[in-house]
Amino acid sequence: MSVNASPSGVELINLLGLSEEKLISFFAEMGEKKFRAKQVLKWIHQYGVTDFDEMSNISKVLREKLKRSAIVFAPEVIKQWDSVDGTRKFLIKVSGGNAVETVFIPDGERGTLCVSSQVGCSLDCSFCATGKQGFNRDLSCAEIIGQVWVAAKSFGQLAEKGPRKVTNVVMMGMGEPLMNFENVVDAMNLMMHDHCYGLSKRRVTLSTSGVVPMLDKLGDHTDACLAISLHAPNDALRNELVPINRKYPIAMLLDSAKRYITGLPDNRRKITIEYTLIDHVNDRVEHAHELAELLRDVPVKINLIPFNPFNLSDYKRVSNNALRRFQDILVEAGYIVTVRTTRGDDIDAACGQLAGAVNDRTRRSQSYGLSGVVSDDIVKIMSSSPSQPQ
Ligand code: SAH
Ligand code: SF4
Repeated sequence: MSVNASPSGVELINLLGLSEEKLISFFAEMGEKKFRAKQVLKWIHQYGVTDFDEMSNISKVLREKLKRSAIVFAPEVIKQWDSVDGTRKFLIKVSGGNAVETVFIPDGERGTLCVSSQVGCSLDCSFCATGKQGFNRDLSCAEIIGQVWVAAKSFGQLAEKGPRKVTNVVMMGMGEPLMNFENVVDAMNLMMHDHCYGLSKRRVTLSTSGVVPMLDKLGDHTDACLAISLHAPNDALRNELVPINRKYPIAMLLDSAKRYITGLPDNRRKITIEYTLIDHVNDRVEHAHELAELLRDVPVKINLIPFNPFNLSDYKRVSNNALRRFQDILVEAGYIVTVRTTRGDDIDAACGQLAGAVNDRTRRSQSYGLSGVVSDDIVKIMSSSPSQPQ
Protein backbone atom coordinates (compact mmCIF):
# COMPACT_ATOMS: atom_id res chain seq x y z
CA MET A 1 0.00 0.00 0.00
CA SER A 2 1.21 3.49 -0.74
CA VAL A 3 1.85 5.69 2.21
CA ASN A 4 2.65 9.35 2.73
CA ALA A 5 3.77 11.02 5.90
CA SER A 6 1.37 13.64 7.27
CA PRO A 7 2.78 16.85 8.79
CA SER A 8 2.42 15.23 12.22
CA GLY A 9 4.54 12.33 11.06
CA VAL A 10 1.70 9.78 10.93
CA GLU A 11 1.87 7.48 7.94
CA LEU A 12 -1.17 8.10 5.78
CA ILE A 13 -2.39 5.53 3.30
CA ASN A 14 -2.79 6.94 -0.19
CA LEU A 15 -6.23 5.78 -1.31
CA LEU A 16 -5.50 6.77 -4.93
CA GLY A 17 -3.44 3.60 -5.35
CA LEU A 18 -5.74 1.05 -3.73
CA SER A 19 -7.52 -1.55 -5.81
CA GLU A 20 -11.16 -2.23 -4.95
CA GLU A 21 -10.16 -5.30 -2.89
CA LYS A 22 -7.55 -3.34 -0.96
CA LEU A 23 -9.97 -0.50 -0.35
CA ILE A 24 -12.54 -2.98 0.94
CA SER A 25 -9.98 -4.37 3.41
CA PHE A 26 -9.00 -0.84 4.39
CA PHE A 27 -12.61 -0.03 5.26
CA ALA A 28 -13.15 -3.41 6.92
CA GLU A 29 -10.27 -2.62 9.27
CA MET A 30 -12.10 0.60 10.17
CA GLY A 31 -15.26 -1.39 10.82
CA GLU A 32 -16.92 0.03 7.71
CA LYS A 33 -19.05 -1.72 5.09
CA LYS A 34 -17.90 -2.83 1.66
CA PHE A 35 -19.90 -0.24 -0.28
CA ARG A 36 -17.67 2.53 1.09
CA ALA A 37 -14.97 1.29 -1.28
CA LYS A 38 -17.18 1.92 -4.32
CA GLN A 39 -18.17 5.36 -3.07
CA VAL A 40 -14.57 6.38 -2.58
CA LEU A 41 -13.41 4.87 -5.89
CA LYS A 42 -16.03 6.95 -7.67
CA TRP A 43 -15.08 10.17 -5.89
CA ILE A 44 -11.41 9.73 -6.65
CA HIS A 45 -11.37 8.28 -10.14
CA GLN A 46 -14.63 9.50 -11.68
CA TYR A 47 -14.87 12.94 -10.14
CA GLY A 48 -11.21 13.67 -9.44
CA VAL A 49 -11.90 14.58 -5.80
CA THR A 50 -8.94 14.50 -3.39
CA ASP A 51 -10.50 16.31 -0.44
CA PHE A 52 -12.52 14.05 1.89
CA ASP A 53 -14.75 17.01 2.79
CA GLU A 54 -16.08 17.05 -0.79
CA MET A 55 -17.20 13.41 -0.55
CA SER A 56 -20.76 14.40 0.26
CA ASN A 57 -22.29 10.92 0.61
CA ILE A 58 -19.82 10.06 3.38
CA SER A 59 -20.76 11.10 6.91
CA LYS A 60 -18.83 13.84 8.61
CA VAL A 61 -17.70 11.42 11.32
CA LEU A 62 -16.25 9.00 8.80
CA ARG A 63 -14.64 11.82 6.85
CA GLU A 64 -12.83 12.96 9.99
CA LYS A 65 -11.76 9.38 10.66
CA LEU A 66 -10.45 9.08 7.11
CA LYS A 67 -8.43 12.26 7.44
CA ARG A 68 -6.56 10.77 10.38
CA SER A 69 -5.41 7.65 8.52
CA ALA A 70 -5.56 8.35 4.81
CA ILE A 71 -4.96 10.82 2.03
CA VAL A 72 -5.74 11.05 -1.68
CA PHE A 73 -2.48 12.19 -3.12
CA ALA A 74 -2.10 12.60 -6.89
CA PRO A 75 1.33 13.04 -8.44
CA GLU A 76 2.37 16.56 -9.31
CA VAL A 77 2.80 17.66 -12.92
CA ILE A 78 6.15 19.40 -13.20
CA LYS A 79 5.57 20.44 -16.75
CA GLN A 80 3.11 19.95 -19.56
CA TRP A 81 3.72 20.33 -23.28
CA ASP A 82 1.05 20.64 -25.95
CA SER A 83 1.82 19.85 -29.56
CA VAL A 84 0.08 21.51 -32.49
CA ASP A 85 -1.25 18.06 -33.41
CA GLY A 86 -2.98 17.68 -30.03
CA THR A 87 -0.38 15.40 -28.44
CA ARG A 88 0.11 16.34 -24.80
CA LYS A 89 3.08 15.32 -22.73
CA PHE A 90 3.34 15.46 -18.95
CA LEU A 91 6.49 15.35 -16.87
CA ILE A 92 5.29 13.90 -13.59
CA LYS A 93 7.11 14.15 -10.28
CA VAL A 94 7.54 10.93 -8.36
CA SER A 95 9.27 10.55 -5.02
CA GLY A 96 13.02 10.30 -4.69
CA GLY A 97 13.82 13.24 -6.94
CA ASN A 98 12.66 11.39 -10.03
CA ALA A 99 10.22 12.14 -12.81
CA VAL A 100 8.46 10.06 -15.42
CA GLU A 101 6.79 10.93 -18.67
CA THR A 102 3.22 10.28 -19.71
CA VAL A 103 2.00 11.06 -23.20
CA PHE A 104 -1.50 11.55 -24.56
CA ILE A 105 -1.95 10.96 -28.28
CA PRO A 106 -5.31 11.92 -29.81
CA ASP A 107 -6.43 10.29 -33.01
CA GLY A 108 -9.97 11.10 -34.04
CA GLU A 109 -12.34 9.69 -31.45
CA ARG A 110 -9.54 7.78 -29.81
CA GLY A 111 -7.19 9.20 -27.21
CA THR A 112 -4.31 6.94 -26.20
CA LEU A 113 -2.36 7.49 -23.01
CA CYS A 114 1.11 6.01 -22.81
CA VAL A 115 1.86 5.26 -19.16
CA SER A 116 5.17 4.53 -17.38
CA SER A 117 5.57 1.68 -14.90
CA GLN A 118 9.10 2.18 -13.53
CA VAL A 119 11.68 4.90 -13.12
CA GLY A 120 14.21 3.69 -15.68
CA CYS A 121 14.46 -0.01 -16.57
CA SER A 122 16.83 -2.80 -15.62
CA LEU A 123 16.51 -4.86 -18.79
CA ASP A 124 18.94 -2.87 -20.93
CA CYS A 125 17.63 -3.48 -24.45
CA SER A 126 20.33 -2.24 -26.78
CA PHE A 127 18.11 0.22 -28.71
CA CYS A 128 16.21 1.74 -25.79
CA ALA A 129 16.97 5.06 -24.16
CA THR A 130 15.12 4.12 -20.97
CA GLY A 131 17.27 1.01 -20.64
CA LYS A 132 20.39 3.13 -21.02
CA GLN A 133 19.32 5.29 -18.09
CA GLY A 134 19.52 2.32 -15.77
CA PHE A 135 16.97 1.44 -13.13
CA ASN A 136 15.93 3.45 -10.13
CA ARG A 137 12.72 1.96 -8.76
CA ASP A 138 9.24 0.64 -9.39
CA LEU A 139 6.39 3.12 -9.47
CA SER A 140 3.71 2.59 -6.84
CA CYS A 141 0.17 1.83 -7.97
CA ALA A 142 -0.76 5.41 -6.99
CA GLU A 143 1.99 6.74 -9.24
CA ILE A 144 0.83 4.58 -12.16
CA ILE A 145 -2.91 5.22 -11.92
CA GLY A 146 -1.99 8.79 -10.95
CA GLN A 147 -0.75 9.32 -14.52
CA VAL A 148 -4.21 8.45 -15.84
CA TRP A 149 -5.82 10.62 -13.16
CA VAL A 150 -3.63 13.59 -14.02
CA ALA A 151 -4.26 13.30 -17.77
CA ALA A 152 -8.00 12.76 -17.40
CA LYS A 153 -8.23 15.70 -15.00
CA SER A 154 -6.31 17.95 -17.39
CA PHE A 155 -8.97 17.31 -20.05
CA GLY A 156 -11.89 17.97 -17.72
CA GLN A 157 -12.76 14.26 -17.91
CA LEU A 158 -13.09 13.91 -14.14
CA ALA A 159 -16.16 16.09 -13.88
CA GLU A 160 -19.81 15.20 -14.11
CA LYS A 161 -20.52 14.57 -17.80
CA GLY A 162 -16.91 15.51 -18.63
CA PRO A 163 -15.69 14.52 -22.11
CA ARG A 164 -14.07 11.10 -22.34
CA LYS A 165 -10.71 11.98 -23.83
CA VAL A 166 -8.56 9.10 -22.57
CA THR A 167 -10.12 6.10 -24.33
CA ASN A 168 -7.07 3.79 -24.47
CA VAL A 169 -4.08 3.14 -22.24
CA VAL A 170 -0.84 1.45 -23.29
CA MET A 171 1.73 0.45 -20.66
CA MET A 172 4.52 1.47 -23.03
CA GLY A 173 6.17 4.38 -21.28
CA MET A 174 9.28 4.02 -19.18
CA GLY A 175 9.93 0.65 -17.57
CA GLU A 176 9.04 -3.02 -17.92
CA PRO A 177 5.51 -3.49 -16.52
CA LEU A 178 5.94 -7.19 -15.71
CA MET A 179 8.89 -6.35 -13.44
CA ASN A 180 6.43 -4.34 -11.32
CA PHE A 181 3.65 -6.87 -11.47
CA GLU A 182 1.32 -6.16 -8.56
CA ASN A 183 1.28 -2.38 -8.93
CA VAL A 184 0.76 -2.57 -12.68
CA VAL A 185 -2.03 -5.15 -12.44
CA ASP A 186 -3.80 -3.14 -9.71
CA ALA A 187 -3.50 0.04 -11.78
CA MET A 188 -4.75 -1.64 -14.98
CA ASN A 189 -7.71 -3.08 -13.12
CA LEU A 190 -8.58 0.40 -11.84
CA MET A 191 -8.41 1.70 -15.43
CA MET A 192 -10.97 -0.95 -16.46
CA HIS A 193 -13.16 -0.70 -13.35
CA ASP A 194 -16.70 0.57 -13.99
CA HIS A 195 -16.56 2.84 -10.97
CA CYS A 196 -13.26 4.32 -12.09
CA TYR A 197 -12.26 5.00 -15.70
CA GLY A 198 -14.39 2.25 -17.21
CA LEU A 199 -12.02 1.49 -20.10
CA SER A 200 -12.81 -1.63 -22.07
CA LYS A 201 -10.38 -4.53 -21.67
CA ARG A 202 -9.71 -4.20 -25.40
CA ARG A 203 -8.41 -0.71 -24.80
CA VAL A 204 -5.83 -1.33 -22.09
CA THR A 205 -2.59 -2.91 -23.29
CA LEU A 206 0.41 -4.22 -21.42
CA SER A 207 3.64 -4.30 -23.42
CA THR A 208 6.45 -6.59 -22.33
CA SER A 209 9.89 -7.54 -23.53
CA GLY A 210 9.23 -11.05 -22.22
CA VAL A 211 9.42 -11.69 -18.49
CA VAL A 212 7.92 -15.16 -18.99
CA PRO A 213 7.31 -16.28 -15.37
CA MET A 214 5.24 -13.14 -14.76
CA LEU A 215 3.46 -13.42 -18.10
CA ASP A 216 2.50 -16.96 -17.09
CA LYS A 217 0.71 -15.48 -14.07
CA LEU A 218 -0.87 -12.51 -15.81
CA GLY A 219 -4.08 -14.25 -16.85
CA ASP A 220 -4.94 -14.99 -13.22
CA HIS A 221 -5.05 -11.28 -12.47
CA THR A 222 -6.25 -9.36 -15.51
CA ASP A 223 -7.71 -9.68 -19.00
CA ALA A 224 -6.11 -6.65 -20.63
CA CYS A 225 -4.58 -6.80 -24.12
CA LEU A 226 -1.02 -7.96 -24.64
CA ALA A 227 1.82 -6.59 -26.76
CA ILE A 228 5.12 -8.43 -27.09
CA SER A 229 8.30 -6.51 -27.90
CA LEU A 230 9.86 -9.05 -30.24
CA HIS A 231 12.21 -7.03 -32.50
CA ALA A 232 13.95 -10.09 -33.96
CA PRO A 233 12.85 -13.29 -35.70
CA ASN A 234 15.50 -15.58 -34.12
CA ASP A 235 17.21 -16.06 -30.76
CA ALA A 236 20.71 -15.16 -31.92
CA LEU A 237 19.64 -11.68 -32.99
CA ARG A 238 17.14 -11.19 -30.16
CA ASN A 239 19.82 -12.09 -27.59
CA GLU A 240 21.72 -9.05 -28.81
CA LEU A 241 18.80 -6.63 -28.87
CA VAL A 242 16.73 -7.81 -25.90
CA PRO A 243 19.10 -9.40 -23.35
CA ILE A 244 16.29 -10.99 -21.32
CA ASN A 245 15.87 -13.31 -24.31
CA ARG A 246 18.94 -15.25 -23.10
CA LYS A 247 16.89 -16.28 -20.09
CA TYR A 248 13.51 -16.66 -21.78
CA PRO A 249 13.99 -17.40 -25.49
CA ILE A 250 11.47 -16.72 -28.23
CA ALA A 251 9.72 -20.11 -28.27
CA MET A 252 9.11 -19.94 -24.52
CA LEU A 253 7.86 -16.36 -24.79
CA LEU A 254 5.48 -17.01 -27.68
CA ASP A 255 4.09 -20.10 -25.92
CA SER A 256 3.38 -18.10 -22.80
CA ALA A 257 1.81 -15.25 -24.80
CA LYS A 258 -0.37 -17.73 -26.70
CA ARG A 259 -1.54 -19.29 -23.45
CA TYR A 260 -2.45 -15.86 -22.10
CA ILE A 261 -4.41 -14.78 -25.15
CA THR A 262 -6.23 -18.06 -25.70
CA GLY A 263 -7.08 -18.20 -21.98
CA LEU A 264 -9.09 -14.98 -22.20
CA PRO A 265 -12.87 -15.40 -22.17
CA ASP A 266 -13.27 -13.63 -25.52
CA ASN A 267 -10.90 -15.78 -27.53
CA ARG A 268 -10.91 -13.64 -30.64
CA ARG A 269 -8.18 -11.33 -29.47
CA LYS A 270 -4.76 -11.03 -31.06
CA ILE A 271 -1.33 -10.41 -29.57
CA THR A 272 0.32 -7.25 -30.86
CA ILE A 273 3.87 -7.97 -31.95
CA GLU A 274 6.08 -4.89 -31.71
CA TYR A 275 9.07 -4.89 -34.02
CA THR A 276 11.41 -1.92 -33.92
CA LEU A 277 13.16 -1.70 -37.27
CA ILE A 278 16.83 -0.71 -37.08
CA ASP A 279 18.83 0.03 -40.20
CA HIS A 280 20.96 -2.97 -41.26
CA VAL A 281 20.32 -4.81 -38.00
CA ASN A 282 16.91 -6.51 -38.19
CA ASP A 283 15.36 -5.02 -41.34
CA ARG A 284 16.48 -7.46 -44.03
CA VAL A 285 14.23 -9.38 -46.39
CA GLU A 286 15.34 -12.65 -44.74
CA HIS A 287 14.28 -11.30 -41.36
CA ALA A 288 10.80 -10.51 -42.67
CA HIS A 289 10.43 -14.02 -44.14
CA GLU A 290 11.75 -15.60 -40.94
CA LEU A 291 9.30 -13.53 -38.88
CA ALA A 292 6.39 -14.55 -41.11
CA GLU A 293 7.32 -18.19 -40.58
CA LEU A 294 7.88 -17.81 -36.83
CA LEU A 295 4.45 -16.31 -36.22
CA ARG A 296 2.57 -18.70 -38.48
CA ASP A 297 0.56 -20.33 -35.66
CA VAL A 298 0.27 -17.36 -33.34
CA PRO A 299 -2.80 -15.07 -33.39
CA VAL A 300 -1.04 -11.74 -33.98
CA LYS A 301 -1.13 -8.34 -35.56
CA ILE A 302 2.24 -6.77 -36.22
CA ASN A 303 3.22 -3.23 -35.35
CA LEU A 304 6.40 -2.02 -37.07
CA ILE A 305 8.18 0.80 -35.25
CA PRO A 306 10.90 2.70 -37.10
CA PHE A 307 13.80 2.96 -34.65
CA ASN A 308 13.91 6.34 -33.03
CA PRO A 309 17.54 7.46 -32.74
CA PHE A 310 18.85 8.96 -29.52
CA ASN A 311 22.12 10.39 -28.31
CA LEU A 312 24.97 7.94 -28.02
CA SER A 313 23.23 5.14 -29.85
CA ASP A 314 24.94 4.08 -33.06
CA TYR A 315 21.79 2.53 -34.46
CA LYS A 316 20.00 4.26 -37.31
CA ARG A 317 16.36 4.49 -38.31
CA VAL A 318 15.27 1.99 -40.94
CA SER A 319 15.16 3.42 -44.48
CA ASN A 320 11.73 4.02 -45.97
CA ASN A 321 12.45 1.45 -48.66
CA ALA A 322 13.43 -1.25 -46.22
CA LEU A 323 10.39 -0.45 -44.09
CA ARG A 324 8.03 -0.78 -47.04
CA ARG A 325 9.70 -3.98 -48.20
CA PHE A 326 9.45 -5.48 -44.72
CA GLN A 327 5.80 -4.54 -44.41
CA ASP A 328 4.95 -5.87 -47.90
CA ILE A 329 6.46 -9.29 -47.16
CA LEU A 330 4.42 -9.62 -43.98
CA VAL A 331 1.20 -8.40 -45.61
CA GLU A 332 1.76 -10.84 -48.47
CA ALA A 333 2.13 -13.61 -45.90
CA GLY A 334 -1.34 -12.70 -44.61
CA TYR A 335 -0.60 -10.59 -41.52
CA ILE A 336 -2.27 -7.38 -40.39
CA VAL A 337 0.62 -4.93 -40.28
CA THR A 338 0.63 -1.35 -39.06
CA VAL A 339 3.45 1.15 -38.96
CA ARG A 340 3.85 3.48 -36.02
CA THR A 341 4.26 7.08 -37.05
CA THR A 342 5.78 9.87 -35.01
CA ARG A 343 3.55 12.50 -33.50
CA GLY A 344 4.13 15.56 -31.35
CA ASP A 345 7.49 16.32 -32.91
CA ASP A 346 7.35 19.96 -31.90
CA ILE A 347 6.98 19.21 -28.19
CA ASP A 348 9.63 16.50 -28.28
CA ALA A 349 12.09 19.09 -29.47
CA ALA A 350 11.13 21.33 -26.60
CA CYS A 351 11.92 18.78 -23.93
CA GLY A 352 15.03 17.06 -25.18
CA GLN A 353 17.21 18.37 -22.38
CA LEU A 354 15.30 17.34 -19.26
CA ALA A 355 17.71 16.99 -16.41
CA GLY A 356 17.82 15.35 -13.02
CA ALA A 357 14.86 13.13 -13.65
CA VAL A 358 16.27 9.68 -12.99
CA ASN A 359 18.59 8.94 -10.12
CA ASP A 360 20.22 5.92 -11.64
CA ARG A 361 20.94 3.29 -9.03
CA THR A 362 22.78 1.06 -11.46
CA ARG A 363 25.04 3.90 -12.56
CA ARG A 364 24.64 2.57 -16.07
CA SER A 365 23.65 5.99 -17.35
CA GLN A 366 27.02 7.39 -16.37
CA SER A 367 28.85 5.09 -18.72
CA TYR A 368 26.55 6.26 -21.49
CA GLY A 369 26.84 9.90 -20.52
CA LEU A 370 23.08 10.01 -20.14
CA SER A 371 22.81 11.01 -16.54
CA GLY A 372 19.44 12.50 -15.77
CA VAL A 373 18.06 12.51 -19.30
CA VAL A 374 14.44 11.47 -19.48
CA SER A 375 13.72 9.22 -22.37
CA ASP A 376 12.40 11.66 -24.86
CA ASP A 377 12.77 8.95 -27.46
CA ILE A 378 10.21 6.77 -25.78
CA VAL A 379 7.77 9.61 -26.08
CA LYS A 380 8.53 9.88 -29.73
CA ILE A 381 8.18 6.22 -30.50
CA MET A 382 4.96 6.05 -28.59
CA SER A 383 3.45 8.88 -30.53
CA SER A 384 1.57 6.89 -33.07
CA SER A 385 -1.54 7.19 -35.05
CA PRO A 386 -3.76 4.36 -36.26
CA SER A 387 -1.15 1.74 -35.60
CA GLN A 388 -1.54 1.84 -31.81
CA PRO A 389 -2.74 -1.37 -30.25
CA GLN A 390 -6.52 -1.16 -29.75
N1 SAH B 1 9.31 -2.45 -21.36
C1 SAH B 1 8.19 -2.66 -22.19
C2 SAH B 1 7.36 -1.41 -22.44
C3 SAH B 1 8.09 -0.12 -22.66
S1 SAH B 1 8.98 0.04 -24.15
C4 SAH B 1 8.61 -3.27 -23.50
O1 SAH B 1 9.80 -3.35 -23.78
O2 SAH B 1 7.72 -3.73 -24.22
C5 SAH B 1 7.70 0.33 -25.36
C6 SAH B 1 8.11 -0.05 -26.79
O3 SAH B 1 9.05 0.88 -27.35
C7 SAH B 1 8.78 -1.40 -26.85
O4 SAH B 1 8.30 -2.14 -27.93
C8 SAH B 1 10.23 -0.99 -27.05
O5 SAH B 1 10.96 -2.03 -27.57
C9 SAH B 1 10.12 0.19 -27.97
N2 SAH B 1 11.31 1.04 -28.05
C10 SAH B 1 12.18 1.32 -27.06
N3 SAH B 1 13.16 2.16 -27.50
C11 SAH B 1 12.89 2.43 -28.79
C12 SAH B 1 13.52 3.26 -29.79
N4 SAH B 1 14.62 3.97 -29.53
N5 SAH B 1 12.96 3.31 -31.02
C13 SAH B 1 11.83 2.61 -31.27
N6 SAH B 1 11.22 1.80 -30.38
C14 SAH B 1 11.73 1.71 -29.15
FE1 SF4 C 1 13.12 -1.84 -20.61
FE2 SF4 C 1 11.26 -2.04 -22.55
FE3 SF4 C 1 13.37 -0.37 -22.79
FE4 SF4 C 1 13.77 -3.00 -22.90
S1 SF4 C 1 12.55 -1.76 -24.37
S2 SF4 C 1 15.02 -1.54 -21.75
S3 SF4 C 1 12.28 -3.74 -21.44
S4 SF4 C 1 11.74 -0.22 -21.31
